Amino acid sequence: MLESLSISLAALALLVLYQQYRIYGIHKDSSKREELFQIVTENAADMIALVDVKGKRLYNSPAYKRILGYSPAELSETSSFEQIHPDDRFQVLEAAREARATGIGKRLEYRIRHKDGSWRVLESLASAVRDSKGEVAKLVIVNRDITERKRAEEQLEHNRLHDPLTGLPNRGLFLDRLHQLFLRAQRDPAQPYALLLTNVDHFKVFNESMGTAAGDEILREMARRIGASLRQADTIAHHGSGELSPEPMLSRLGGDEFTLLLDGVGDPSDALRIAKRIQAGVAEPLFVGPREVRAALSVGIALSVPGHGQPEELLKDADAAMRRAKALGGSRCEVFDEVMHMRAEGRLRLEADLRNAIAARQFRIYYQPVVQLDTRRVVSFEALLRWDHPTQGLISPYRFIEAAEDSGLMVSIGHWLILQACRQLREWEVNNASGQPMNITVNVSARQFADARLATDLQDALRETGINPSQLQLEMTESVAAADPKLTVTVLSHLKHLGVGVVLDDFGVGSASLRGLWQFPVDALKIDRSLIRDMQSDRAASDMIEVFITLAHKINLKVIAEGIETARQLERLSELGCEFGQGYYFSQPLEAKAALQFLRQQVAPARGTGAGSL
Ligand code: C2E
Ligand code: MG
Ligand code: MG
Repeated sequence: MLESLSISLAALALLVLYQQYRIYGIHKDSSKREELFQIVTENAADMIALVDVKGKRLYNSPAYKRILGYSPAELSETSSFEQIHPDDRFQVLEAAREARATGIGKRLEYRIRHKDGSWRVLESLASAVRDSKGEVAKLVIVNRDITERKRAEEQLEHNRLHDPLTGLPNRGLFLDRLHQLFLRAQRDPAQPYALLLTNVDHFKVFNESMGTAAGDEILREMARRIGASLRQADTIAHHGSGELSPEPMLSRLGGDEFTLLLDGVGDPSDALRIAKRIQAGVAEPLFVGPREVRAALSVGIALSVPGHGQPEELLKDADAAMRRAKALGGSRCEVFDEVMHMRAEGRLRLEADLRNAIAARQFRIYYQPVVQLDTRRVVSFEALLRWDHPTQGLISPYRFIEAAEDSGLMVSIGHWLILQACRQLREWEVNNASGQPMNITVNVSARQFADARLATDLQDALRETGINPSQLQLEMTESVAAADPKLTVTVLSHLKHLGVGVVLDDFGVGSASLRGLWQFPVDALKIDRSLIRDMQSDRAASDMIEVFITLAHKINLKVIAEGIETARQLERLSELGCEFGQGYYFSQPLEAKAALQFLRQQVAPARGTGAGSL
């Protein structure tokens, strides 16, 4: 604005000066005025030209040389019109015509070629010089080089709409495009689009364990890989017209979330195919400095539906689908449907309720005995969290652990649970006259595991209750362990140093199964109950169990089978040499009192069998 004003003022001043010079040229002071005009034009930063009504250049100021590379002499020979960008020529002609006709120039912006071939942007204002009859005789044109200013403006505009970390379109630009597609679909429902929302699995763990600089590096690499897999040769399958879909728009919503807008995709299977391609594209391990990291993406897909009231609803739907993909173990794609919609609403209520639950003392711990298979002796209890919800009753951890993880509450809940479980063990020991050594097993989530407070929490709990570190085991799932192997090894070594045991939970269903056994210093593995469930009907499940047990024993790990429900399963597991088991066949998870009862009732161990310890 200010710049435009200043160019107008410059043009006006020159015009006045020139008019005086022209009209009063014969005046005795003419040489003074001419000199003054010359001084102003020769020294002005702007390019100043004088042209006659036919467009012939009468004068070019020296600034032309500096800004466009042409000397005034070269300029008067060439037609500067040819150097104007073809798209801008018409408006320049029009402005010149108008200035000649009316004597009033209008401010205009146009591109012109530098002698070196590059484009410069000029802001220009023409003013008419009239002869003694009042006719327009010449035009004084002031041209200002605004190339840098334009570039800065474009950069600012780019920055406003792009994410500085990855250079991708940001949330604002994404929402803008989403709105456009939404409005178009309202006019023409036959033009569908799909939204993919991806989130990096266990990103918080990476970020917290390796630092934010490493986290940033992972995000940049993810963005690069997603982009690369989108550009991969085969075009997106497109139904109907057979035309190619418009370019998909990849953007970063913030944090570890990326979105992809697929215009023209209305079929869930097309969206899924693209999602799978992206997941495959990021699957290779990546290096952050010397560290090898495996990052996976969970993808939620939502398709445009005529019923959507607001474009943001589609984003919410994709988010619900993405969360489901996470809840099902991550590294998956899920497509949003109505059931998920209900769940998404419930989820919001759940998170709000969870925040109150700690203060309102609504958490309970149930204890499930872990039994030594050959003696049937209880060697440990696994502490399992329950939420005694005021209106919904006892809620399974499957329904709230993920929400507690995401909202950051799990670390506090875990802190409470560890202390509580250790106190409970102490109480049983005091009350159970048999004096058998007993262990307690506690599950730790990804966030807890990556949190530096875990070790302090454990030490505090051990100190307060006086129980021996070897009586405490932590259970972590394979997927948590495999997310950041380096961190896992560090934390596990620390736990070993404390004397606390570690069990790999839900073993055999994750992807890194066997590798993890060598990689991580754990004491035992717990075979996932889906394998135990299938072992009778599915040969592969039974074979896998056998392999796991043999392998574990080879490297001195104990084996626990979870989810034993039948005598046949128990028998077969015993045959295979599995030492410990847990499941409804022995007992459901119990309240503390019932667990003590269970302990007291159990058959005393046969002498000489040697006390099995986890
Ligand atoms: P998990 O650690 O694998 O726990 C075993 C789950 O299997 C428990 O479900 C238990 O009730 C169930 N179960 C035990 N025996 C049988 C059986 O014979 N058949 C069948 N079908 N199921 C059996 P629960 O208590 O609902 O816990 C579910 C998961 O929630 C746990 O899986 C664990 O990953 C997580 N969890 C539970 N408590 C905590 C906790 O305090 N902290 C954290 N971070 N996670 C917890
Ligand atoms: Mg467990
Ligand atoms: Mg388990």
